[in-house]
Amino acid sequence: MKPIYSGKVREIYDISGEHLIIVTTDRISAFDNTLPMPVKGKGIVLNTLSNFWFEKTGNIVPNHIVEKRLENMPSFFQNNSFADRTVMVEKLDMLPFEFVVRGYLFGSMWRAYEKGKSFCGTLLPDNCKLAQKLDYPVLTPAKKHDTKHDEYISIKELEGLLGTELTNRIAEICFRLYEVCSEYAKSKGLIIADAKFEFGQNKEGALILADEIFTPDSSRYWDAAQYEAGALPESFDKQFLRDWLINHKEKGGFQFDKVPESILLRTQALYQECLHRLTKG
Ligand code: ATP
Ligand code: MG
Repeated sequence: MKPIYSGKVREIYDISGEHLIIVTTDRISAFDNTLPMPVKGKGIVLNTLSNFWFEKTGNIVPNHIVEKRLENMPSFFQNNSFADRTVMVEKLDMLPFEFVVRGYLFGSMWRAYEKGKSFCGTLLPDNCKLAQKLDYPVLTPAKKHDTKHDEYISIKELEGLLGTELTNRIAEICFRLYEVCSEYAKSKGLIIADAKFEFGQNKEGALILADEIFTPDSSRYWDAAQYEAGALPESFDKQFLRDWLINHKEKGGFQFDKVPESILLRTQALYQECLHRLTKG
């Protein structure tokens, strides 16, 4: 069987027109490129965490998961290489946006703030600190583009594209998801600094939460014990790898094929620890 789409991280198979099979691989991407070498076990971490959160949030919004047991999937997938990294999902008409909820000031929002600019329609007061907790979480949507970078847009622009009613419904769901899951993560000593969601619509037109949620690829996790506003805490994700790439540019280009084993192992350990902290003990 051949995938219909090979993303940066996932392989998508269309098995019936109604259902897709999503296989989360060990591929890792940085700066929109997939590295030639895998981070072993990363796909299992992402799939396990996403499933964990989908189960926890099913009462807030329906999600795309249909089946998690390999034995109930087509025989092609009944192979150990697919174990713990494969789900059957409802095939959706995806909204071409990433819905990012931010509870803390960092990344693109911090860069805009430093330039005195508003970000997706939010203008912050003076004297904010890097990584500080925002007074209330903000939704910063981005329009997905096939050929160029995703483009941040304001809520007003989103309303123009999706209508006010759907925008409000999505915003409400995103804030609720962020609130409930942040509270749980906090009880495990982790801060969810931001979270990215994707939604789609099924044949009946219902709004369904899709893709992955609250994984270290789609959320920034910080150690609550290390957190102090003013500096960026170490995050449980690929920031470490990004930093290595930035610090080892040659002739202005990233050296994706030269990332040392030690960096991959450190990245692997951070992903594993994130899963462990959230789901064990
Ligand atoms: P993107 O930037 O579009 O996320 P990607 O390279 O990150 O690309 P992957 O995460 O590897 O993509 O693959 C997942 C793809 O499947 C995404 O394009 C996502 O929008 C899409 N997808 C996720 N869930 C569903 C679903 N239930 N129905 C249809 N498409 C889905
Ligand atoms: Mg993706």
